[in-house]
Amino acid sequence: METIHLTRENNITMPHTDRTPSVFNLFACKCPRCRKANMFQDSNPWHLKNTMKMNKECPICNQPLDIEVGFYFGASYVAYALTVALSVATFVAWWVLVGFSLYDNRIFYWLALNAVLLVVAQPYLMRVSRTGWLAFFVKYDKNWRSNPPQPLERTNKDQENNW
Ligand SMILES: [Zn+2]
Repeated sequence: METIHLTRENNITMPHTDRTPSVFNLFACKCPRCRKANMFQDSNPWHLKNTMKMNKECPICNQPLDIEVGFYFGASYVAYALTVALSVATFVAWWVLVGFSLYDNRIFYWLALNAVLLVVAQPYLMRVSRTGWLAFFVKYDKNWRSNPPQPLERTNKDQENNW
């Protein structure tokens, strides 16, 4: 029979073994470190005056959300990828459901519909791109309750939002 050796460490971490929140929480713009709290102050991205108002740090695990000067410049790469993915998805859906032909204007209807969709989705896309970009640098930490967040090295109070 195999014996299981419980180390001291195992005993300590056991009370914290609640289920890992799904990675899909990132699509709801949750903090990548705890996947529990909203990164943005107003949970509705279509309240346009508040769309980009973020919490300074995660209200649950204290992860700073602006981790270096001009950090969210990189969110545009994520936004670009998401926009292309969404356009490919609507293109394929249109292809299957409506179809394309050289002899009529159906492709332009798809183009118009896709453009409207992207404009309407824009506030959400901008937010989720920031969440996605931050998730490249801040990983889920199952011990976020006890671990402090990584200290910031390259921030500059005077240069905040100055990019
Ligand atoms: Zn958090």
